[in-house]
Amino acid sequence: LVRLRARLARSQNAFGKTLLGLLSRETLDDDAWEELEDTLITADMGAAVARQVTDDLRTRVQVLGTRDPAQVRELLKDELVKQIGADLDRSLATEPHGNRPAVLLVVGVNGTGKTTTCGKLARVLVGDGRTVLLGAADTFRAAAAEQLETWGSRVGAQVVRKDEGTDPASVAFDAVRQGIESKVDTVIIDTAGRLHTKTGLMDELGKVKRVVEKQADVDEVLLVLDATTGQNGMQQARVFAEVVNITGVVLTKLDGTAKGGIVVQVQRELGVPVKLVGLGEGPDDLAPFEPEAFVDAILG
Ligand code: GDP
Repeated sequence: LVRLRARLARSQNAFGKTLLGLLSRETLDDDAWEELEDTLITADMGAAVARQVTDDLRTRVQVLGTRDPAQVRELLKDELVKQIGADLDRSLATEPHGNRPAVLLVVGVNGTGKTTTCGKLARVLVGDGRTVLLGAADTFRAAAAEQLETWGSRVGAQVVRKDEGTDPASVAFDAVRQGIESKVDTVIIDTAGRLHTKTGLMDELGKVKRVVEKQADVDEVLLVLDATTGQNGMQQARVFAEVVNITGVVLTKLDGTAKGGIVVQVQRELGVPVKLVGLGEGPDDLAPFEPEAFVDAILG
């Protein structure tokens, strides 16, 4: 928790302070509650959710007649955790099936942190004693394969790559084949995030998925979203959700924004849980998303 708090954007901790500051005012009048609602909207939580949190909290504070800061903090925490969804299944399917590795596809727009997330996730799994193979199916960006190779040697994972411009599906196919041959536990495939046209993207990701499924099940399709891009990121997410069956979201760059409320919006709109969060560029800056710890870290 201390680490999480240290790595969240400073502005996010300031956001928590603002909320608690509002609630510790001498008089909690309409203005104060409105300000609370506005602050939640500013954090990208979405207007409807901000309204609900405010209304529910207001009712509870009034019913209990409490102004005890510790109790008010708990009530606020409770409301936020409820909106984030304390009971969603956020587990990652990374276990092999018999002699087949688990296969994870990592999708998202370029620049969101896909390649970095693949590397960091490999690091977590290798740290847990698993064997991992990284497939560099982002063949459109010159540096992507090299970047993934660097991550591979850094964290101790095999890497399958081909020349720039190769069909991504062929890299994905080879990655899974090599994963099966060398009996690794988990294959993580980094894909290209070209949002040129929706049908183009659909064809590309669809083909990658189909060739993988000739050899093994796809266990997870993780959508990587950059938390700093706000509504723009939400728009991208909608397109990807129409094109592939996303099983989880990775929200990156939470160290660089106060807009952590996007977690709530993403989950509501896409109907899939945020499973992981990126908290920096380093190998250990990926964490499972835990609503309680997250809200605790924000509220300080
Ligand atoms: P891709 O094009 O989606 O594969 O994106 P990359 O993995 O190349 O990442 C783009 C940039 O974002 C790189 O400079 C990464 O170091 C940086 N990045 C990725 N994840 C995070 C994160 O969680 N926090 C921060 N601050 N930077 C990140």
